[in-house]
Amino acid sequence: MPYCRNCPNNRYFGSSKIPSVAPTANGPLSGICADFAAGEAMLSITYQGNDKKALKMAINTPRDYFDICLKCGGENIDWHNSTIIEQ
Ligand SMILES: [Zn+2]
Repeated sequence: MPYCRNCPNNRYFGSSKIPSVAPTANGPLSGICADFAAGEAMLSITYQGNDKKALKMAINTPRDYFDICLKCGGENIDWHNSTIIEQ
């Protein structure tokens, strides 16, 4: 699983490649957010957009997509030792 180098978050991540559809000061950082289970594959994904292709790409290549920590907003994500199974 990925983890944030800035905070203890290793579970909730978004993507700068999929911007929030309704950006507000307190809104979500990303139009997509994934809940990664500890040591397992992705548990669930919340996606706000209409682009199914982007969603599929994010699922298939999570390392390329999920680059924002949804806890602290940092973009210093470490995928080292990730156990995500890439298809
Ligand atoms: Zn963080």
